[in-house]
Amino acid sequence: AIAGTGFVGYGIYSNRNPPEQIDPDPNKKTLVVLGTGWGSVSLLKKLDTENYNVVVISPRNYFLFTPLLPSCTTGLIEHRSIMEPVRNFLRHKKAAVKFYEAEATKIDYERRVIYVNDESEIKGESHTTEVPFDMLVVGVGAENATFGIPGVREHSCFLKEVNDAQRIRQRIMDCCETATFKDQSPDEVKRLLHMVVVGGGPTGVEFAGELQDFFENDLKKWIPDIKDNFKVTLVEALPSVLPMFSKQLIDYTEKTFKEETIEVRTKTMVKNVTDKYIEAEFTDANGQKQTEKIPYGLLVWATGNALRPVVKDLMAQIPAQKDSRRGLAVNEYLVVKGTENVWAVGDCAVAGYAPTGQVAAQEGAFLARLFNQMGKTESIDLELKNLSAVQETAPNKEKRDEAFARIKDLQRRRRRVNSMGPFEYSHQGSLAYIGSEKAVADISWLTGNLASGGTLTYFFWLSAYLSMCFSTRNRILVIMDWTKAKVFGRDVSR
Ligand code: NAD
Repeated sequence: AIAGTGFVGYGIYSNRNPPEQIDPDPNKKTLVVLGTGWGSVSLLKKLDTENYNVVVISPRNYFLFTPLLPSCTTGLIEHRSIMEPVRNFLRHKKAAVKFYEAEATKIDYERRVIYVNDESEIKGESHTTEVPFDMLVVGVGAENATFGIPGVREHSCFLKEVNDAQRIRQRIMDCCETATFKDQSPDEVKRLLHMVVVGGGPTGVEFAGELQDFFENDLKKWIPDIKDNFKVTLVEALPSVLPMFSKQLIDYTEKTFKEETIEVRTKTMVKNVTDKYIEAEFTDANGQKQTEKIPYGLLVWATGNALRPVVKDLMAQIPAQKDSRRGLAVNEYLVVKGTENVWAVGDCAVAGYAPTGQVAAQEGAFLARLFNQMGKTESIDLELKNLSAVQETAPNKEKRDEAFARIKDLQRRRRRVNSMGPFEYSHQGSLAYIGSEKAVADISWLTGNLASGGTLTYFFWLSAYLSMCFSTRNRILVIMDWTKAKVFGRDVSR
């Protein structure tokens, strides 16, 4: 797969189902994996589950293919097409894996237990319990950064989870339908049809592009009344959007946005959010700081990641984490510094890489290899112990020599198994969709360092994202959604 995720279809699995799986063994160590995002799922896919009693805890019983989440906000792709139930791939593992749909609220490092909270809608109550661990992988990701700016949580939509995309989709249609309602004042119509995106990282840029596409391809044809007032504005505090891309691609993106009539407001920092407008600070032509009120109908907040409380709390329990600010500091084997039996992957770990799905997936795959090797080492050690006993009690020289030869062989295998090097991230490139069937790509492996933008890059983006989808099922569903939208237009019902 293009981003080194290694996600493939079901062809690799035998048709194993829960009744044929090996039961948990009380003599094995309990490995708890928190989360079902890129890092944790990539670990689970490659892990030999028969070496440990594996327990997975996550409030989400599915993996979400986040790169296509912006397409769900406009109905181009249906959210279920990019979701894969964890039960679907866990049932193919050799040994049974326990899955608890619950949120880990606290990790007690000293006691080696995790407190989990299950919000049951059926029971109408929440239930807290403890899960003990011998080994723990923290892959809980991050939450949305708001930088404590007043009003953000109350009034804006984020774009991280399925329900965020559903909320945005509803809100877009609500704004359009309300704007065309009888007797709205012109100012109110303008406000309702002003779609403001805060944050010019890949999330904000991709969403702005998708939204403008929605307007151009469908909304303005189906609701012509909105066509003079519908407007998308992208607000970014830094001097340019997509700072992680090359200057050439930044310029290309800004030029494309101009052609698409998306307004880009760089060097503009949002300081306050109310239910109808944002207050943004910018520097005018005379170098004076000015504050402007920008009315909006839809506000999407995409200003990056912040630590989750459960991670902050764990960091506070470990003295070696005291100087880490952005997440759990890990060593080159992804072990959380100051611990021996806790690993961290993805956006909650600080390993020196950007918080992307590509990094998380490679970290997860690395840990799977590490744990598989550790499992092998343990079984070799057990066999070595048994052979030493055989050697001591062997009735004749022939048997002793036989045991000795086997010991030598096992010791060689153990040295080989133990020779695994540290985690090294291999960057496959960055891709972002920028609207009107154009994409930008910074790809280091193709031709040294290729930066490309345009329609051809869009087809590359399409095929790359398709190949990265979790399963063949997902891939087929996404293709069907794309085809459906091309033929019939996007579904504008709320
Ligand atoms: P980001 O951190 O990349 O960008 C957030 C932007 O918001 C920054 O440029 C910041 O200057 C701006 N900002 C912060 N506060 C602001 C304010 N008050 N007013 C105006 N602007 C403000 O966030 P993201 O786009 O959510 O991405 C998060 C991570 O996920 C990144 O590492 C990114 O590379 C990765 N990601 C990658 C892709 C892709 O490769 N296609 C897609 C989505 C996310």
